Amino acid sequence: MMQTAKNDLRSFKFGGKVIDYDLLFSHRKTLEIAVHPDRTVVVKAPVSAEISAVEKKLQKRAGWICRQLEYFRQFEPRQQPRSFIGGETHLYLGRQYRLKTVRDDEDSVKLIRGRFLVSCREDIEPEGVKKLLKGWYAAKAPVQFNCSLNRCWQKLRFSGLKKPVIKIRQMPKRWGSLSAKGIISLNPELIKAPKECIDYVVMHELCHLKHHDHSPAFYSLLASLVPGWQKIKAKLEIGHI
Ligand SMILES: [Zn+2]
Repeated sequence: MMQTAKNDLRSFKFGGKVIDYDLLFSHRKTLEIAVHPDRTVVVKAPVSAEISAVEKKLQKRAGWICRQLEYFRQFEPRQQPRSFIGGETHLYLGRQYRLKTVRDDEDSVKLIRGRFLVSCREDIEPEGVKKLLKGWYAAKAPVQFNCSLNRCWQKLRFSGLKKPVIKIRQMPKRWGSLSAKGIISLNPELIKAPKECIDYVVMHELCHLKHHDHSPAFYSLLASLVPGWQKIKAKLEIGHI
């Protein structure tokens, strides 16, 4: 159908910011812009609407859209501040591990007996511990994310579609995204969430291979592949990662 073929995830620029939005065409007379509490911007347009007209309207309402996005930001989960000192807990795949720091001959991070054991060659400074832990997470993330992609891909029966590749990218507002070239970008922080949350994010992006929008068809496909995805999403959002 023509109107669904045009549905798209798009973005526009305003005051140096890039604002993403879902463009949905339907049989309606007027253009509607809504900002939802999950900080998605949804534009519903008449089937006959031109992209240029949609963008003009978005520019006109951009101030309001930014204010709404800012308002909903306060309800977003925050990252818990960490001090990177012994005794505090750090997450990996949804589980808390207590941090133990020791002086040793070489820098290393090991996950043993339910603890993060961070060894430092030099004085044990929070900055150094932070760097070592960051490196450890960065090494684990591609391995776990690709395992998740393999698990999810097996459940799909999309014939003729190419399996995407995973890229890890800092994204302040999103857990994942899918590019037109078939690259799934994942937020490195996702490595701290349970595997079911990682799988949910990957599956969400894989569903975008079929539906490039957040239309009812997209959500019904997602629900058939991840029953109860709403609960998993909520877990991810309140997980204090
Ligand atoms: Zn999406």
